[in-house]
Amino acid sequence: MSTYDSFERFRLERELQALSGKHGFHTELISLYIPPGKQLSEVTNNLKQEYGTSTNIKSKSTRQHVLDAITMITQRLKMMKSVPENGLAIFCGAIPQNGQGSEKMELYPIIPPKPVNVYLYRCDNKFHIDPLKDMIKETATYGIIVVDRSEATIAILTGKHLEVVKRLTSGVPSKHTAGGQSQRRFERLIEQAAHEFFKRTGSHANEIFLNMPDLKGILVGGAGPTKEKFAQGGYLNYQLQQKMLPTVDIGNSGEEGIEELIENSSEFLKGVRYTEEKKLVQRFLEHLAKETGLAAYGEKEVREFLTQSTVDTLLISEALETIRVTVSCNSCDYKREETIRKSDMSSLQQTVQNSLCPKCNSPLTISDVKSTIDDLGELAEKTNAKVEVISTETEEGQELKQGFGGVAAILRYRPAGM
Ligand code: ZN
Repeated sequence: MSTYDSFERFRLERELQALSGKHGFHTELISLYIPPGKQLSEVTNNLKQEYGTSTNIKSKSTRQHVLDAITMITQRLKMMKSVPENGLAIFCGAIPQNGQGSEKMELYPIIPPKPVNVYLYRCDNKFHIDPLKDMIKETATYGIIVVDRSEATIAILTGKHLEVVKRLTSGVPSKHTAGGQSQRRFERLIEQAAHEFFKRTGSHANEIFLNMPDLKGILVGGAGPTKEKFAQGGYLNYQLQQKMLPTVDIGNSGEEGIEELIENSSEFLKGVRYTEEKKLVQRFLEHLAKETGLAAYGEKEVREFLTQSTVDTLLISEALETIRVTVSCNSCDYKREETIRKSDMSSLQQTVQNSLCPKCNSPLTISDVKSTIDDLGELAEKTNAKVEVISTETEEGQELKQGFGGVAAILRYRPAGM
């Protein structure tokens, strides 16, 4: 998975999202998974058999759609020399267009991020995308508990996603309220109340974490010695106790405490996307604060550095919703690109229709539309820059989106003249 970067993952997630929204009128959408090492001739023979079987389908239109899809897949496979390294997934079928009665044959070949392990041919009214989804699912999970005498917060960290699932308050009174004999009695009562609170926290944590098959570890943090009392006091189920990572001293409680605990535990959370994303944006912010000259931000500036091959790492917000549009002339080589909001597309179309080429006065057309993420990402790939698509799940990701227009870069070297 390490060679599969966040940009490829983002594109696959988006493609699967689009595929999951496609439904056939009948059982006529074909999903085909081919494992690596399979001979293409074997696959086309298989499809020939499926074709034969499908001639028995009663409904005329369904039969025709299935036969068309098999033919289309077979033609596509004939264009290939061999099955790719990780195998291949192909989705093909008659998709209703714009909710109207008409359908169009669509075909989507996808190179999987991990090897396909079983040959699968399936005909259904939807595409069967679960095997691909499973390949990019981030499953490694960490349990996070921040606890002190007055409150406890329990959270789950999976991939780039952090979720606070439980908040508990103790009602344990603070110490040092009385003196003398009654002080000791009072302290015993407090200890008893704290013990009850830890038991309650532990039982909630057990309930939340015990049935998680991919739980890799549990982090416990808090201010002062309370967290050790909780961590070592046997309040958690022994199976969870075995997954306990060293406790961490933190100053905050509640959700801020959870963030602080994750921040201070990054050595245990290597490879967890949430931590990676935080670190990536922090690295950019550090360069900016220290004025090293290696931080750039804003689409225009970063694009400039990308075209100069100066970018080492491109940070781009997953939430960036603009598109890059190419307007070109029908008769000469005139071409211009602009970045607009998706919602401004129809007004741009109007403008383009009503204007003429500044070079030769011929009509203009919109010749290409792609998301700004794809556009910048592809530009980065061409110049061997690393592309990091950053979610808005972390505070840092929010800052990238809101404070820097969703586009930032760390440069390879300080540009001349800066
Ligand atoms: Zn022109």
